[in-house]
Amino acid sequence: MQRQSEQELIDEAYENLPQKIRIGYMTWAIEVSESADSSVNKEFGHMNQLSQKIRLRPDQTPQSLANTFIHECLHAIHWVYGLWRGDPDEEQFANQTANGLCALFQDNPEFETWFLKYNRLSD
Ligand SMILES: [Zn+2]
Repeated sequence: MQRQSEQELIDEAYENLPQKIRIGYMTWAIEVSESADSSVNKEFGHMNQLSQKIRLRPDQTPQSLANTFIHECLHAIHWVYGLWRGDPDEEQFANQTANGLCALFQDNPEFETWFLKYNRLSD
């Protein structure tokens, strides 16, 4: 089996992103683009509460993309559940928790399998 190049892995990770994600009572659109909502151009991602969009910056490695995705979802969770602060403490929480969750999933694939098997909502 031929090993995928790093660029192929990056392309595949972006192609397989979900187009939307449900967080609480809100559906959020997932877009890949440079953030148009912020004056800070160095952001890896951005969550817009008004448009209910999560934007992910292109050209991240799959690990960075996954971390950014979770990070922005944490901000959306805070917004939806009334925990939004938008201050440095929230940013620190999102950074540290996204890092922890990424490590949890990377280090424990059997946990992911178990979680998905026994925690799906019935259709
Ligand atoms: Zn953030």
